[in-house]
Amino acid sequence: MSTALVLFSAGQDSATCLAWALNAFDRVETIGFAYGQRHAVELDQRPILRDAIAALRPEWAARLGEDTVVDLSGYGALAESALTADRAIEMLESGLPSTFVPGRNLVFLSVAAAHAYRRSASTLVGGMCETDYSGYPDCRRETIDAMEQTLSLGLAAPLKIATPLMHLTKAQTWALAHDLGANALVEAILEHSHTCYEGDRSKRHDWGYGCGVCPACELRANGWREWSALKAF
Ligand code: ZN
Repeated sequence: MSTALVLFSAGQDSATCLAWALNAFDRVETIGFAYGQRHAVELDQRPILRDAIAALRPEWAARLGEDTVVDLSGYGALAESALTADRAIEMLESGLPSTFVPGRNLVFLSVAAAHAYRRSASTLVGGMCETDYSGYPDCRRETIDAMEQTLSLGLAAPLKIATPLMHLTKAQTWALAHDLGANALVEAILEHSHTCYEGDRSKRHDWGYGCGVCPACELRANGWREWSALKAF
């Protein structure tokens, strides 16, 4: 029996990864991290979005196993950035946005691997993406390949890290969601996933909820518009 552990943050990307894993594995579990995000919204949306996706197909509901949320607030305090502190989102001299949380994916993957080991899951699934505007170095496939090797060596057990969105644009991620679960999955992601850095869920746009002006909203809205335009042909 194949088991996967999905790093599930309740964003558009990890929601698509969850559906992808439910299609590809016999059993799928999820893990999330509380690292002192400025807004608890994404943690609140996790169970709602998980249930909404599972409800789309009986076989998905049957395959979806338990969810675990790990408290990493100590790490969050250490790695303080715009996501964990009340600071403006801007480009820094390093060429990275202030939303870059140093080592975040490395920590998440290590903790997820420890949990996967105990749950007999041999694959981690993550929404890391090289085409993201931000160019976070810990989202590159080169970094993921090195982590895969390090974790497999350190656990003395082969561990795969699947990144189905690695080379997709945000528009292509919407197209993948549509391929996996048609309009019902797209609608569930629009309605229940959360991407906005400002934690704003007061206004529903055609691309989902958000402030509409932060970089995460801008990226999501642009991807949605691009996919909508392609779909119209
Ligand atoms: Zn926003």
